[in-house]
Amino acid sequence: MEKKNIDWGNLSFGYVQTDYRYVSNFKDGAWDAGGLTTDANITMNECAGVLQYAQTCFEGMKAYTTEDGRIVCFRPDLNAARMADSCRRLKMPVFPEEKFLEAIVETVRANAAWVPPFGSGASLYLRPYMFGSNPVIGVKPATEYQFRVFATPVGPYFKGGIRPLTVRISDFDRAAPRGTGHVKAGLNYAMSLYAIVDAHEQGYDENIYLDSATRTCIEETGGANVIFIKGNTLVTPKSDTILPSITRRSLLYVAKEYLGMEVQEREVKLTEIGEFEECGLCGTAAVISPVGKIVDHGTEYTYAGFGPGIQKLYDTLTGIQMGRIEAPEGWITVIE
Ligand SMILES: *Cc1c(COP(=O)(O)O)cnc(C)c1O
Repeated sequence: MEKKNIDWGNLSFGYVQTDYRYVSNFKDGAWDAGGLTTDANITMNECAGVLQYAQTCFEGMKAYTTEDGRIVCFRPDLNAARMADSCRRLKMPVFPEEKFLEAIVETVRANAAWVPPFGSGASLYLRPYMFGSNPVIGVKPATEYQFRVFATPVGPYFKGGIRPLTVRISDFDRAAPRGTGHVKAGLNYAMSLYAIVDAHEQGYDENIYLDSATRTCIEETGGANVIFIKGNTLVTPKSDTILPSITRRSLLYVAKEYLGMEVQEREVKLTEIGEFEECGLCGTAAVISPVGKIVDHGTEYTYAGFGPGIQKLYDTLTGIQMGRIEAPEGWITVIE
């Protein structure tokens, strides 16, 4: 298959319109057969539920080419399950998990020419999402929905070398106890925009949010979970209001089963972050972005950036993803 003529290594994380996307509609209590379309635009009523009351959720995942030339996805079953959880919390109909996986496979196959070659560092980012599409003016769930998956090629995350991040402890909160912090909903991002623009203006790369009930524990950033390392121990915050990152869950497994590290999932107090040697942000986009500094108002905590622990975790997980290291059963879905 002929690849698109793209300078893969210089792509950024942006939207590039590809040839095909998957669409399925929910109406009268049932999903239609679903299928691919070349139409990248959506036409809907001015009063659609998503436009009025933000009834929408999404997923983010990647397809990429392994060392031996196969196109694969990393743990798409977990994205399917997480999206089902998001739908239940937002009173949206669940898109059946096996249909979700079929939609991913169909979208990637149809856009195989857009999957970056091995070694380019680039990948094909996949964005499954769903939204309420019929008119809703009284506050209630929509009765019609659209599920879509589009694909867009994205460049290597650490283009131009690794620069450890400088992050601040945010004065804004991200998620309320018993709220929606654990679901992948656009609404969690809309309200984080003010804080991230402000962070950038003040010279920070990201906000680390505290638990909003007590403001004493570390939660996560706007779009990535946090890990800390001290010696041979990996520590990650545990809270009901953190988004359950698939990358973070995979790193915990790798730390324990591949690297023999001690793994602790527990409350992480703001007062103890100075005791850690390394800190990283984890998510699909970068796998791990090393943190060089956390600033809590006047107080600065420094970390090793790509220190030995983060390096080991990063190399092992990306090795598993790329087929250099044997993956645990079921982690790699071969698309073609
Ligand atoms: C998507 C997301 C993450 C990262 O999850 P992955 O499954 O690892 O990509 C972390 N935090 C938030 C708030 C997210 O929306």
